[in-house]
Amino acid sequence: MADTAEALRERVLALFAKRVATDPEIAALLERIHGDNGTGYADADAFALRIGQALADAYKAVQGELPEHIDAAFADTLLREALQGDYEQVADVAAAVQKALNSQAGLGLNAVRAQLNTDRIDGLVGRLAGAEKTQDALWLLDEPVRNFSMSVVDDTLKANIEFQGKAGLRPRVIRTMHGKGCKWCQDLAGVYDYPDVPKDVYRRHERCRCVVTYDPGRGKRVQDVWSKRWTNAEERDKIEARKQVGKDSFLTHLAENPTALGRYTPQSLKETLERMGYAVKPLSSGRLKGVPFEDGGGYKVNFTDSGLLMYHPERLSHHNGEYYKISTGKRGLHHYEINGQEFNPRDRHKIR
Ligand SMILES: [Zn+2]
Repeated sequence: MADTAEALRERVLALFAKRVATDPEIAALLERIHGDNGTGYADADAFALRIGQALADAYKAVQGELPEHIDAAFADTLLREALQGDYEQVADVAAAVQKALNSQAGLGLNAVRAQLNTDRIDGLVGRLAGAEKTQDALWLLDEPVRNFSMSVVDDTLKANIEFQGKAGLRPRVIRTMHGKGCKWCQDLAGVYDYPDVPKDVYRRHERCRCVVTYDPGRGKRVQDVWSKRWTNAEERDKIEARKQVGKDSFLTHLAENPTALGRYTPQSLKETLERMGYAVKPLSSGRLKGVPFEDGGGYKVNFTDSGLLMYHPERLSHHNGEYYKISTGKRGLHHYEINGQEFNPRDRHKIR
């Protein structure tokens, strides 16, 4: 059995290497990533998906030769080296993407290369060996392999956001849905400033093709660097317009995905909004009119589409406790608990 495992590993590695070397899409992606027309993390995602597909196809080519039951040693031989090979290639490319983004932003920073996540490999090995019949576990050699490959890109992004955040920058993570997306992805989509980044933002479920990208952010040091690079007013306006889009999409997104409120405390939400450049003001009516948040008041923020987000603290609340209120032209007025759950203000009974 050990011989079979060794032989199959060699076949898989050879098929995988040949496919990577001859696939025109991989070649085109590499050319773009190392050239001037890269699209950043979207390219790295596409590359990881294609590499993962190449490996999944190699497994598919040998699946008829697998034994009826695979033990742990066999699964390890079949999976570990190939997944490491996938990782090496994707980690290099993702780091190259990050390096290009750093230099575009004028940051003289190194890109961090993702570490190999051996837990994930151990997990796949264990699941394959744990299956009673190989036949029922073949799916593990398909989508989970692509998912592993893409997770290397996500790990790269996470490592770099944390590295830059700790270096005193204010990097930003932007997660965009691909297609309609599930509820979990809908809730996660958005713009996050370090350190207020939900840890799930770097994760993807099976078949999730959301794109998670990096933006150097609006931190002071970053801004100094940007301003040196603003060669004329037109370029600066373009950059400001782009920031404006990112900013407005945050509250528009929150209005459409209010459960995301639950990821913040009223204070951290206020700080996040301020860092994004929103004008956060004390309430302008009611019994807490003009009282600053720091002195026990609430706050409010206006945004596009006659949007309004309001926070009211427990004190002097006529809704029996603290709450958020969000209103937009499109969706009308809604009240939410601090955990993001909607409630009916007439009885403060939870709607859901
Ligand atoms: Zn998704």
